[in-house]
Amino acid sequence: MMAALLATGLGSVTLVGGVAYLSVNYKVDSLRRQQAAEHFHTYMTAYLAEYGDWQTAIATESFDRFVRRQEGERPAGRELPSEMLERMPPRINNQARYAPPPGEGVYVPREGGGPPPDPTLPAARRSSGTPPPDGGFPPADYRDAPPDPTLASPRHLARDGYGPPPEAAREPGMDGDRPPPPRRDSPPPFRFILTDAGYRVLLGGGQFRYGEPLPENLRGSARAIVVKNQTVAYMSSEGTLAPTPQEQKYLDALYNSLLWGIAAAAGLATLLGVLLSRGLSRSLSGLTRAVKRMQKGELRQEVPVQGKDEVAALATAFNAMSAQLAQSHEELNTSHATILEQAEQLRELSIRDALTQLHNRRHFDEQANTLFNQAVRHKRPLALVICDIDHFKKINDTYSHATGDTVLRHVGNILRNHMRLSDLVARYGGEEFVIAFPETAGPQAAALCDKLRTLIADFPWHEVHPDLKVTMSMGVYADIAAGSAETMLQKADALLYRAKETGRNRVCFA
Ligand code: GH3
Ligand code: MG
Ligand code: MG
Repeated sequence: MMAALLATGLGSVTLVGGVAYLSVNYKVDSLRRQQAAEHFHTYMTAYLAEYGDWQTAIATESFDRFVRRQEGERPAGRELPSEMLERMPPRINNQARYAPPPGEGVYVPREGGGPPPDPTLPAARRSSGTPPPDGGFPPADYRDAPPDPTLASPRHLARDGYGPPPEAAREPGMDGDRPPPPRRDSPPPFRFILTDAGYRVLLGGGQFRYGEPLPENLRGSARAIVVKNQTVAYMSSEGTLAPTPQEQKYLDALYNSLLWGIAAAAGLATLLGVLLSRGLSRSLSGLTRAVKRMQKGELRQEVPVQGKDEVAALATAFNAMSAQLAQSHEELNTSHATILEQAEQLRELSIRDALTQLHNRRHFDEQANTLFNQAVRHKRPLALVICDIDHFKKINDTYSHATGDTVLRHVGNILRNHMRLSDLVARYGGEEFVIAFPETAGPQAAALCDKLRTLIADFPWHEVHPDLKVTMSMGVYADIAAGSAETMLQKADALLYRAKETGRNRVCFA
């Protein structure tokens, strides 16, 4: 995440810096071009206005000298158009200079920067040229035209783009009427192209010959030069204008400032990226640890909330979710415990007798089988007992069914309260009860039953009803060789029958 943030920040800074650099470049170049064109236009308008037309002008005074004469005193800190011409590439520079006649202040174009021509020459020496023939334009093929002695030598004309190169300089197959094309690996030099009102080239900028019609696609961008409300020429510019040393210093300072600005912004972006990603990473790590603790079961988690940003909102939402989840979990646990409790109550109800609260027959049968199997496996004694209240029907009939129920509850309490924890007692149905005595042999069980029988007989039944008397008969069987708990109960029942037959209120065992 930190790497992504840093990459995004630095990428943005680089992009903005690059766009700013290109914009500054474009704007500066555009302004300088505009300024140069403005100067050229101003002086060319004055040049043509002074001499009437181009041919007269170039035959009288070179444009270069005209400009120097016009400038007079140089304003402080301002580049003069003549200086602008000086730092143009020699070939293009030559385009803006008309070579005067030999011996009349001939200007030899300076290759690699020589001293400027002497502007102090008298005007008479600079104005002895004559216009070219054919209405101001030389013939189409300069090789056929006689050289004009009032103009520059053929060598100069060829080099300046005004005429063919000397025969000695021509190579086989070379187009002597056109200069060689500019090198592809260097930017196109800055140049002005001047045409007359009919778009025929006066200054070709090294691209076009004198008198050649300017291509249609270039005419749209050409700017008119108007003298006395009449368009006398068109000018346009193209190529890259090399900056002056002064401008280069300004540009270098500007680029340096831009570079420092980009470097400062990159540093700031890096610092902010590191701080932001550290803060984010710390907050997210806290959240991750809390989530892991929740996975382990600690549902109630609280992470610190700092600030009011998206991470803080996430932490707040997480805390709320954790609290809600923990509360739901607690409620679920509570309801689960309630359900378990209720299930246990239901189970108890299902194995209990509602009237006496003793276990019921179904539960006794299950447990008796278990006790029998354990006794057999461990070869331990087990006694099973069946008890039956004597003449219970008579009690119901004499004292009411409710009194009969009361008697059943008291008998149940007596039996339960005098049992060991390991013993099992249940209401078997009606007024019959069953008892299992694990680890108890027949005689011992019979003694216990006799004690129970006495307790029942001696119970203060007169408190229930003054005339009430209750006794119980029991049959005890304690031989696990009978084969099953059920058989043992059948044997006990037979013994109970014997107890009834032999007078009731007694215990019979075998
Ligand atoms: P014996 O001494 O031979 O056992 O005679 P007995 O009257 O006790 O036996 P019998 O089987 O003839 O009568 C049992 C009576 O128990 C019949 C029935 O109405 C009564 N009884 C069964 N269940 C209940 C009960 O839940 N409440 C009451 N009040 N009476 C019951
Ligand atoms: Mg009975
Ligand atoms: Mg009975």
